[in-house]
Amino acid sequence: MKTPTIPFLDLSALHQAHRDEYLAAIGEVIDQSAFAGGPVVSQFEEDFARFCGTRHAIGVGSGTDALWLALLALDLNPGDEVITVAATFLATAEAITWAGGRPVFIDIDPVTYTMNPALIERAITPRTRAIIPVHLYGQMADMDPILELAQRHGLAVIEDACQAHGAEYKGHPAGSLGAFGCFSFYPGKNLGAFGEAGALTTSDEQLAQKIAVLRNHGQERKYHHSQVGWNARMDGIQAAVLRLKLPELPYHNRLRREIARLYDTALADCPHVQVPHVAPGCVHSYHVYAVRVPERDRVAAALAERGVSTGIHYPIPVHLTDAYRALGYRRGSLPVTERWAAEVLSLPMFPQLAFAQAETVAAELRGAVETLNAIPALTS
Ligand SMILES: *Cc1c(COP(=O)(O)O)cnc(C)c1O
Repeated sequence: MKTPTIPFLDLSALHQAHRDEYLAAIGEVIDQSAFAGGPVVSQFEEDFARFCGTRHAIGVGSGTDALWLALLALDLNPGDEVITVAATFLATAEAITWAGGRPVFIDIDPVTYTMNPALIERAITPRTRAIIPVHLYGQMADMDPILELAQRHGLAVIEDACQAHGAEYKGHPAGSLGAFGCFSFYPGKNLGAFGEAGALTTSDEQLAQKIAVLRNHGQERKYHHSQVGWNARMDGIQAAVLRLKLPELPYHNRLRREIARLYDTALADCPHVQVPHVAPGCVHSYHVYAVRVPERDRVAAALAERGVSTGIHYPIPVHLTDAYRALGYRRGSLPVTERWAAEVLSLPMFPQLAFAQAETVAAELRGAVETLNAIPALTS
């Protein structure tokens, strides 16, 4: 294997720059003993709501918690259906299942890889309660038709914005368009904690209050439990770290977009490689920069040989996982999603990736694709 290896993600490069400030912020939480919830969490919630252009943000334990609590707040009945996509991380579907619902997967747009709004209407049944579009890789789903259909059919829209901190759709920040936006602060996300954390955004006062109670054992006030909730509070230490990082997020997202432009340009005329499409009116946050390439696994192996680490998001679409076999989907059920899963390849993408490294990644990808002889054309 060639050295040096270009990493897929390097968090230490991000954290070394502000190590002392992180330690000081964590020190303040220790001095206040405000570890579970508390004032630092409230401060972060205010900052994050402002960032997303919503009235409220509620800090929780993870992005999975956020999705699950959003669905609990809708009071699903057992067997209620929630329309979503299979081109996502499993958590989107898990939240539906554990809230008592049944995920109904529809196919994605072949170009943006987000929910295809044209397929929503025929998936609606009398049991449908909500729609969860996923802002995959940091590009928001086509929200206008989704919101319009949801309103017409009386359905709630929950944005899975776990990959889309700072993304925009026609001027609207991710998390500001649905009844809820659900965010993850898993360490590798565009805004990452030093552990697990997540948040919901909403501008609905009642829904915000409902989540605040649910995440804290259903307590309206201490030891007065109005309902069965759960422990889904955010840690004070995570809030302190996130609060420190948030002001830098727009700059980091800008750097990601610059790296993306570099990749776009360097790969524009590379036969067989399809670079990501940014839909008109969308600002992409490039949590993931995924190209499409035939013979994806061979290309990834060749890149590893050439010292470039890559990722696959995601190799098995949710409807074909063992976990969801019981729902009865088969290979062929969601053809666009299945082709996407077979052909996407994520290139190194993080704000500290040097432009020279990105140039190398693009050059090695071109080399790898050209070397693999008789590579068939993309299937779409
Ligand atoms: C990361 C992620 C989640 C889950 O977030 P966690 O904080 O890891 O629980 C959900 N949906 C998508 C699309 C994600 O990328």
